[in-house]
Amino acid sequence: MADNQRDTLRLPLVRHLDEAAIREFSSDVRGQLIRPEDDGYDEARAVFYGGIDRRPALIVRVADAADISHVVALARASGLELAVRSGGHSVAGHSTTDGGIVLDLSEMKELEIDVERRTAWAQTGLTTGEYTAAVGAHGLATGFGDTGSVGIGGITLGGGVGYLVRKHGLTIDDLLAAEVVTADGELLRVDAETHPDLFWAIRGGGGNFGVATRFHYRLHEVDTIVGGMLVLPATPDVIHSFVAEADAAPEELSTIANVMTAPPMPFLPAEVHGQLVVMAMLAYAGEVEAGERAIAPFRALATPIVDMVKPMGYPEIYPPEEDDYHPVASGRTMFVDAIDGPVAQTIVENLQASTAQMAVVQIRVLGGAMARVPAEATAFAHRSSHIMVNVAALYERPDEAAVHEDWVTDFAAALRQGDGGAYVGFLGDEGEGRVREAYPGSAWDRLAAVKGRYDPMNLFRLNQNIRPTAQS
Ligand SMILES: Cc1cc2nc3c(=O)[nH]c(=O)nc-3n(C[C@H](O)[C@H](O)[C@H](O)COP(=O)(O)OP(=O)(O)OC[C@H]3O[C@@H](n4cnc5c(N)ncnc54)[C@H](O)[C@@H]3O)c2cc1C
Repeated sequence: MADNQRDTLRLPLVRHLDEAAIREFSSDVRGQLIRPEDDGYDEARAVFYGGIDRRPALIVRVADAADISHVVALARASGLELAVRSGGHSVAGHSTTDGGIVLDLSEMKELEIDVERRTAWAQTGLTTGEYTAAVGAHGLATGFGDTGSVGIGGITLGGGVGYLVRKHGLTIDDLLAAEVVTADGELLRVDAETHPDLFWAIRGGGGNFGVATRFHYRLHEVDTIVGGMLVLPATPDVIHSFVAEADAAPEELSTIANVMTAPPMPFLPAEVHGQLVVMAMLAYAGEVEAGERAIAPFRALATPIVDMVKPMGYPEIYPPEEDDYHPVASGRTMFVDAIDGPVAQTIVENLQASTAQMAVVQIRVLGGAMARVPAEATAFAHRSSHIMVNVAALYERPDEAAVHEDWVTDFAAALRQGDGGAYVGFLGDEGEGRVREAYPGSAWDRLAAVKGRYDPMNLFRLNQNIRPTAQS
């Protein structure tokens, strides 16, 4: 019997929702209940990634923290699997369930911005794009990732690596406090002084410890940035020189280089469609002139195919997205120490060998503010990791998965270097060994102990799971 199953068996064994339980539950909650027979069920059960086709017994669009406590109680009493969903972008498909309950936070979007104190309380149904646009209206920002439709719930609990990572650190480095409903249904206020063990754990430990209802963030003055997309031809020389420049750049500049086959998009000249390009996103959070100077070396690496880097309001870094984009993906995340000429050559060769509709290697040079936080200060412990690399194949049909999984596995093995770590936010459903790689040093044991205190029955197990240490 798998260990996860054993944890489950310690929960009540009812494992279904009877009508009486549903009636009682629905009279307790303010939010909306959606069941398989209801209109809108198919839209409500869909998540970002395609190929994840699960049928929950109940979806609850919660309205407030009290609703969340009721859902947690229902999951506890019924023994049904509980999926917690903020933006629905879980790479592993953890925000939906077959036959279980989905706690959908998407209606909880309240945001209180304190411009004077430069802080904001945000409910966890907000997406990172919505939050960034709202605080951006005041010339302020908290750093998240590269995609505006990602929920603040998942990305914050995982760490949060994005366009401000070198200048202001991870998302969790700006997390001042949170409100969390724990497995016993209690709403806790959590910060450095109150439940400090839980506050440490939720800064990187994912959804293992409870449902975060609100986050209290620090805001930075980030008004006009120099940023946008720069597309270069992807030769080995350009790739490793790009990484070297990103490393040498002032920490105001964070970069995300996607080495990939150029998609047939209108902003790309037809002759490069299907060719390998470096489609890079750059963000310089500082003075415009200094930003232009910092970006000049990247523009000089080769004649740019597209250059859309310009002074812009920071929220523009999250352009509108297509609602009906649901790729099927196989991916692997890792940290590496260096991308020199031979590694860049390996990248080009492997991308050329992929048969996926789109094959991509994403390279993020880290350092700066993120690296100045001590590794033991938060559950995200990869503070000295140098470069994050994500390898991915995107394709149309789930039945193609095996061939792309093999490609991803072999490619990731070829890239692997001394830093054996993984970023939890980009982990797929890859088993406990890989989850452990997300928590190096003492972090894993410490997280298991905190889990033992706040969720000893492993109610929150549909996640990158850390099983609880038994409490004496
Ligand atoms: C297209 C894309 C781009 C991405 N870019 C970046 C990036 O640039 N930087 C980066 O750091 N990450 C990035 N990620 C990874 C992303 O941060 C994680 O997948 C994250 O978990 C997604 O958050 P979500 O709220 O949208 O997802 P969901 O699927 O809603 O949640 C993921 C998991 O987080 C937990 N969870 C979510 N909300 C709560 C809550 N309120 N309380 C308790 N648990 C909760 C649950 O366990 C849930 O299963 C990206 C992912 C995708 C798909």
